[in-house]
Amino acid sequence: MNTGVRKDWDTYFMDIAYMVSTRSRCSRRHVGAVLVQGKKLLGTAYNGAPMGVPDCLEAGCMISEEYELIVKDGKEEMIKKQRCVRTIHAEQNLLLFTDRADREGSSVYVTDEPCWTCANMLANSGIVEIIYHRPYPKDTSKVRQMMEQKGITFRSLSTYEPPKETIMTVLN
Ligand SMILES: [Zn+2]
Ligand SMILES: [Zn+2]
Repeated sequence: MNTGVRKDWDTYFMDIAYMVSTRSRCSRRHVGAVLVQGKKLLGTAYNGAPMGVPDCLEAGCMISEEYELIVKDGKEEMIKKQRCVRTIHAEQNLLLFTDRADREGSSVYVTDEPCWTCANMLANSGIVEIIYHRPYPKDTSKVRQMMEQKGITFRSLSTYEPPKETIMTVLN
């Protein structure tokens, strides 16, 4: 129902990120990201294989398994992580398709909390704020710590609800 209430800017740009994510052809995860300066949209990107090569739907996901040593409550623990490495992540594509000058002082809206690699790249990209929706618990503690060290505003839209037609079921 249209109540006549205008969407706030967070909802507006996150809705766009979700719309963009529907372009993704990775069956594990659809991620969308947008670059925003003030209230101006400066770029959009989603996760996918490089242009012109078979994508996840054509060639299947390329699953890689890796182990990471973490320290939890003073104890070392090896945790296993599985990810699709066929795709360039949405955040990385966003950096490939936008200019440094546009990114200085800008914000990134992204459907999913960035992984460690993307967080590192975003931290060095000129942007000053990251807004995400779905949590990515595997990397969150070290990502949060780094954002704090870098002075980048890092916030989640916990009460946000994406447009229904943009949601897919994803494997974690
Ligand atoms: Zn994939
Ligand atoms: Zn990533």
